[in-house]
Parts: sequence; C-alpha cells; structure tokens
Amino acid sequence: MPQPSVIPTVKLLIGGKLVESSTSHWRDVVNPATQEVLARVPFATEAEMNAAVASAKEAFKTWRKTPIGARARIFLKYQQLIREHMRELAAILTAEQGKTLPDAEGDVFRGLEVVEHAAGIGNLQLGELANNVAGGVDTYTLQQPLGVCAGITPFNFPAMIPLWMFPMAIATGNTFVLKPSEQDPMVTMRLAELALEAGVPPGVLNVIHGGADAVNLICDHPDIKAVSFVGSTRVGTHVYNRASQAGKRVQCMMGAKNHGIVLPDAHKEQTLNNLVGAAFGAAGQRCMALSVVILVGEAQGWLPELVAKARTLKVNAGVEGGTDVGPVVSRAALERIGALIERGIGEGAELVLDGRQPQVAGYPQGNFIAPTIFSGVTATMDIYREEIFGPVLCVMQAASLDEAIALINANPNGNGTALFTRSGAAARHFQEEIDVGQVGINVPIPVPAPMFSFSGSRASKLGDLGPYGKQAVQFYTQTKTVTQRWFDENEVGGAVNTTITLK
Ligand code: NAD
Repeated sequence: MPQPSVIPTVKLLIGGKLVESSTSHWRDVVNPATQEVLARVPFATEAEMNAAVASAKEAFKTWRKTPIGARARIFLKYQQLIREHMRELAAILTAEQGKTLPDAEGDVFRGLEVVEHAAGIGNLQLGELANNVAGGVDTYTLQQPLGVCAGITPFNFPAMIPLWMFPMAIATGNTFVLKPSEQDPMVTMRLAELALEAGVPPGVLNVIHGGADAVNLICDHPDIKAVSFVGSTRVGTHVYNRASQAGKRVQCMMGAKNHGIVLPDAHKEQTLNNLVGAAFGAAGQRCMALSVVILVGEAQGWLPELVAKARTLKVNAGVEGGTDVGPVVSRAALERIGALIERGIGEGAELVLDGRQPQVAGYPQGNFIAPTIFSGVTATMDIYREEIFGPVLCVMQAASLDEAIALINANPNGNGTALFTRSGAAARHFQEEIDVGQVGINVPIPVPAPMFSFSGSRASKLGDLGPYGKQAVQFYTQTKTVTQRWFDENEVGGAVNTTITLK
C-alpha cells in the first residue's frame, strides 16, 4: 500500500489548543483493511499529561459556576454539529477501526443520543427537599460536580463510548481528561474538535494519548476525582483497584460473554436473523455481541439454517457497499482469534463453519475472518470461558429453559443476554431468574437508550453506577445536604439544648 510522504500526527488537546506532542514514543494508526498507516499517535509525556490535568483543574473554577442553561446550549449545538458531520465521522471511524460505514454511523449515532440527553441534564441534576424535618428546619440536597474527571476508552466504539463519558461529565459541571484507545484515536479527536466548535471552553475538555502509563497517571493523579473506564476485564480490574486505592470514584464497564437462548416456540426466521446479526455484526467486536447461543430442545434442529445464514454474510472492507463483516481491528487481534479457533478444535468442539482466511478481492492485506461457528461447546472449554471478541459463535445445547438459565448464571459475566420466544410466561420467568444486568426479550442486543443507564453486572462491571442516564448524574456529582433553620422573630431565644434532637 503506497504511503503518503508525510504521515499526519494525532494531536493532544490541552487548554483548548491542539498540541503536537514532544514525545519520542509514537505508534501507527493502521487501516485494518489495507494496513495503510493513517496517522501516528503520540504516547504523551508526563509533563503533557500533567498539563492536561492542570488545565482541567483551572477550567473547573469557572465551569462549575456556568449556569445549567448555558452548559445545555453547548450540547444542543454539539449534537447539531455531530449530525452535520456524520458522514465524515463515519468515514474516519471505518478507516481506522474497520467496521462498515453504516455500522460506523450507528456508532456515532448511539453516542449522539447521549449528547442529546446531556443537553437536557438540568432535568436530572435536581436536588430534593424535605420541608419541616424539625421545627422550622428544612433539608435539601445539591448535586454538585466533582471537579476533574477522566475517561479511558476501548477501540471498539471510538465514537459512542467517549460520548458516553465527557458530555455527561461536562454537562453536570465537571471538567474532563479523556484517554482514547491508541488503536483508533482519530474519530475521537474529530469529536473533540467539534466539541470545541460547539463552545466547550478551553480546558473543560482535554485529550491525552498513550497506553498503560497514561492510564496509570490518571489512576494516581491527586487532582482527578473520578475515573470512567470501558475496556477489557483485565485492564478494568487494574484501573478499578488502582484508582480506588487513590481515593477516586471509579466505574469500569468490562468484558463479556453474552448468551442468547432460543426456545422452539420462537419465530424462526426472525430469531435466526437476529442471532446472525448480533454474533457477527462489527466482526463480533462488540461488548454486547451474542457470542453464545443456547438452542433449547427442538430448536437444536435449527443449527444447519443458522450456519447457512451466517455463510451468506459478505466479508469485505468496511467502505465497500453491501459489506456485512469488516476486518478485525489489528493483526494481533486476528492472530489471537485464530489461536482461539485452533484451541476450540483441540478441545473437541465441532467447527461447523470455518471462516479462517477468507479471500477478499482487492484487500489481500486485510485482517479478515469470516463468520465461524462451533457447535457442541461445553462450559469447560476455553472458547466458552474466554471472550473471543471476533466473529466466532459458540453454539450450546440444553434440554430446557431452566438448564439454559443455570448455564448463564454460572458464567461469571453479566453484560447482556437475550431470550427468543413467543411465550410471555417463559419471558417473564427468564427476566426474573436470569442474573445478568441487561436482558433482551426477542431483542438480541439490549443496550438501553440514554434515559436509562448501561447496566452490565457481575464480572462485566466494577462500581455501582453505570454510564449515561440518571446513574451517570449520580456518578459525576456529589450529593451535599443542606439543613437550615430560619426563625420568626417571636421564636428566637430559649435555653441551651445539649441533646441531639432538633425540635
Ligand atoms: P483494553 O482493555 O485493551 O483497552 C482499554 C483501554 O485501556 C485503552 O484505552 C488502552 O489504552 C488501555 N490499556 C490497555 N492495556 C493497558 C494496560 N496494560 N494498563 C493500563 N491501560 C491499558 O480493551 P480493548 O481491547 O480496547 O476493548 C475491547 C474490550 O472492551 C472487550 O473486552 C470488550 O468487551 C470491552 N468493552 C466493554 C464494554 C462495556 O460496556 N462493558 C463496551 C465496549 C468494550
């Protein structure tokens, strides 16, 4: 692939200015369909990262006092700018991440919904008041911003996940330092530029780049009050422990193994379409991908049709029209997925659809893997226990709904799950008994809209509060209670009272 003579560099955003890093440590941002180097991303120096935090700390002094309406109007403008730049954002995202252009627009759109929600934050950031808790005494609460907050994001949703974080934090009165994935930081930077254009003042949003050192600095920095992380369970657990140890509020959304249960009374065509879309969309690189399907009873006979449908998906570069499955993000990811498929074969799972090394005309260098399906998978196999994060579906068999529920509840992860059925009674039983935070009934990827919160559970999450929605308002604010007494002139005086009561 011919390279441009000068490869652009990804800038840092510090104090409202796009800054060229002075670091000597750089990494290539690579197009996963072509291996073209699109840009070079810096691993910011410690001084640069400290400058970003300092600028956020300084900006907080005035931003926290900016009226709610003024903050909201910036996000109204921001959502408009994102809409106007949707095509451009999707094109950047597809080039650096690989997903199809329509799916990239979906990535931006799901983030845009959170921006719209942030514009209405005044309705959620309300305090409470109890009148007359004692004679002449009222108690009320203030939901006040924390200060400098930080976000650390993964590669798979480089638009949506940053937009889960900084709009909610900033709209509630905080300032922010964002550390995007070093694998695909370009669309995130374009979104940051649009935020400046929308009127986010200098220092209110800062972006640093890097890897483990940047993440550790965020965890340790005494001026950062809260950390929001989305990524793998391994790194998220580290971030949770390290940042909590440093006294910060932390929320970590992490890895998953999401199961779909298919009952024989489900609508067959609809269900199979849903399963294939949710297993192989975005090349399986979604934290809410349905990576395990449990066929119950007679639904076990649907396997050949599931395989046939998966086989029809078109594997190609994300920019090509009609593509269903784009490349996975990197060579390393491709090799890891390939090794896990080898392991599955070794473990005795039946490889009923082998998607390894597909031929993709025009893209001989792409990180492609076509839909791959294992059947006869058991709970002790590594391909079941590990998050494959590629277009690989594990099919399991169960005799009853309760057997399938028990299997899911025994899996440590709790991000998402779905049941396919026409039975209301079965759906309700599932909803009550399943120990997973996000449940779909005939909905394969049940990610809640922004008026709710993303509610993964168990090993998929650390921290009590989820991103966006009411829970994010709680996460990014501190509740202060004010108890006040005002006296009428004729009530003042009386005796000293040394007891605890307030009469
Ligand atoms: P990752 O954990 O490798 O990276 C996430 C962030 O952590 C990146 O910014 C990265 O720079 C940083 N990081 C990487 N290694 C580090 C280390 N050793 N020390 C400190 N920081 C480090 O995750 P990823 O591969 O970018 O994303 C895929 C993962 O994210 C999957 O496990 C997926 O399930 C998960 N994910 C979860 C959700 C959710 O809401 N639960 C959403 C999207 C993705």
